[in-house]
Amino acid sequence: LVPRLRPFTSTIFAEMTALAVRTGAINLGQGFPDTDGPVGMLDAAKNALYGGANQYPPGPGRPELRAAIARHRERYGLSYDPDTEILVTAGATEAITAAVLALTEPGDEVLVIEPYYDSYPAAIAMAGATRKVVPLAEGEDGRFVLDVQALRAAVTPATRAILVNSPHNPTGTVFSEAELSAIADLCVKNDLVAITDEVYEHLVFDGAEHRPLAAFPGMRERTVSISSAGKTFNCTGWKIGWVCAAPELVGAVKAAKQFITFVSGGPLQPAVAHALDHELDWVDALRKSLEAKRDRLSAGLAEAGFAVRPSFGTYFVCADVRPLGFTDAAELAWQLPERIGVAAVPVSVFTDHPEQWKHLLRFAFCKRDEVLDEGIKRLHELR
Ligand code: PMP
Ligand code: GLN
Repeated sequence: LVPRLRPFTSTIFAEMTALAVRTGAINLGQGFPDTDGPVGMLDAAKNALYGGANQYPPGPGRPELRAAIARHRERYGLSYDPDTEILVTAGATEAITAAVLALTEPGDEVLVIEPYYDSYPAAIAMAGATRKVVPLAEGEDGRFVLDVQALRAAVTPATRAILVNSPHNPTGTVFSEAELSAIADLCVKNDLVAITDEVYEHLVFDGAEHRPLAAFPGMRERTVSISSAGKTFNCTGWKIGWVCAAPELVGAVKAAKQFITFVSGGPLQPAVAHALDHELDWVDALRKSLEAKRDRLSAGLAEAGFAVRPSFGTYFVCADVRPLGFTDAAELAWQLPERIGVAAVPVSVFTDHPEQWKHLLRFAFCKRDEVLDEGIKRLHELR
């Protein structure tokens, strides 16, 4: 293995899920739901599968899916031409990697907000570029906030791009209008490309709404907006994602993407098109149910003795292990499955500064209530 990929030989999700399976633990580690997506979407996939949609789809994605993605993006007041400004990818993961490969090279710096999704440093390493990591700060009320000064200070003449994930995995933070606006200003002033990871765009709680960075002044032309069907429609295994951006940027991402997978998910693409056009009421119900699950798990964790951080979106809630007498959440995470039969993920693995993030565990709440309740019951045994 080449040196630049040596830090990336395994993922925390694969390892923690394997440990959960081996020990029969309740898996609140890897974020995937334990119920299926809308029946209409599943039927559409079945019909496509038996209706002959089993050969290579067009390189940019099936036209009905690109049209549905364009219609969906209109909800934010953003218009994209399905023929020149939208590309279907193998999940958001491929979109992110292809964007980084297409837009950065050795000598370039990419700004990354920490904690980061695990694929970002790997994508930057594959491109041979350098990551510049800016940690979120923990506010007094337990919110995670963007340190705008630190972000500005991290920009150098070599900075090409910034990766922005909101709603944010693993913290459950949703960046405020002011935070997004500061990022937009920074991009415009320094001529940076923003690569936005919006896979949790529909999973925003308490009546708040997702605001895409591309909707801020000066950002439409310099933002590669990425999302995927996995989280929105409970189909994380389908790996249907997409990129919306100006023609030159989409063209660049396509140049990389076409030699990674070329195309993927033929019969699933029309099903996702159906879901984007017809299943948003189902998604609304999902969002409400997840909001209740967030409350259920947060309350359970607090009762079990954790100091729970507020979660405003995604599948995840973070909890401080120190009130229970532990000092190292990573050490604890590796013991939890054997010790009490619960799996969680330490936040420090998503950072370059493990000491700063040593006290936090991430728990996924995208599970059936009885699974959450059993997990909570077991977590009480930590006292
Ligand atoms: N970004 C974030 C923040 C995620 O949590 C995930 C996991 N679903 C992904 C990207 C990957 O998305 P996909 O499964 O569509 O590749
Ligand atoms: N996005 C999911 C999480 O954060 C896991 C995805 C994966 O396993 N790569 O838990």
